Amino acid sequence: MTAQLIDGLALAQQTRAQVAQRAAAFEQKSGRKAGLTVVLVGENPASQVYVRNKVKACEAAGMKSELIMLPADTSQAALLTKIDQLNADTSVDGILVQLPLPSQIDSHRVIEAIAADKDVDGFHVANAGALMTGAPQFTPCTPYGVMKMLESIGTPIRGAHAVIVGASNIVGKPMAMLLLAAGATVTICNSKTRDLPAMTRQADILVAAVGRPKLIDASMVKPGAVVIDVGINRLDDGKLAGDVDFESVKPVAGAITPVPGGVGPMTIAMLLVNTMESAERRLV
Ligand code: NAP
Repeated sequence: MTAQLIDGLALAQQTRAQVAQRAAAFEQKSGRKAGLTVVLVGENPASQVYVRNKVKACEAAGMKSELIMLPADTSQAALLTKIDQLNADTSVDGILVQLPLPSQIDSHRVIEAIAADKDVDGFHVANAGALMTGAPQFTPCTPYGVMKMLESIGTPIRGAHAVIVGASNIVGKPMAMLLLAAGATVTICNSKTRDLPAMTRQADILVAAVGRPKLIDASMVKPGAVVIDVGINRLDDGKLAGDVDFESVKPVAGAITPVPGGVGPMTIAMLLVNTMESAERRLV
């Protein structure tokens, strides 16, 4: 058996084309473009690539996108003031502060300072709570994209056992909430999990969101499982690798996402969807 490849690039292109149609309709109705502002503090090279890709994707979809680059020694107070200004700016529908932030800044304080109705990343405690209680306002982009990928290949979720490796606030936990809401039985693993392979081998749907290259090998995957690789790891030779050993797992899994070209492009596409939704809500 060779796994079906879940093509994140193609699905993202389709999603972005749909957003572009909505963006054009929004502009016609409102007389302005839907707008996302991305704030980057410091010069983390990976973050610079991520924010540029987000800004470019917005512009390609006919939305307005502003990138605010602040020096690495920006104080927390200065960043909070900037966020207050963006909260009050009616031309801004979405605010995204790229993480991680330099150590002098408390990320939690910053995320909580973003107006919940502009928090297109869905990380604000009000949005995390809304997701947990089943009425999400903004669904965090990466797990949202994963759900769309599962949907795209008709993965049965109701009654399935989903195992998520990784329990971060931005990926693992919201992923668990979405799969639970869709009727899966969910297991969340972390770095203290005693026997990780015993857990992952039970998965009908396996999501790896850890940040350890090739942590998941074929021996950890149930034959036929749908394997979603969220990890993005830069190897010593400069290449990107996921958390899943793609070549070893491909013959065992039923479906699998590649890295690159899997979850990454869908994350950006769902950021556009969230920004568009925010703009449309503002219109009514
Ligand atoms: P994170 O905040 O560092 O969380 C990592 C999680 O993995 C933690 O819950 C940690 O457990 C767990 N973990 C660490 N080692 C483990 C092990 N050996 N076995 C089981 N669990 C282990 O990372 P993140 O922000 O969620 O990101 C995870 C990966 O996804 C990274 O590679 C990141 O670059 C990537 N990512 C990709 C996208 C995308 O668009 N594709 C978006 C976001 C993140 P503890 O809780 O016990 O510490």
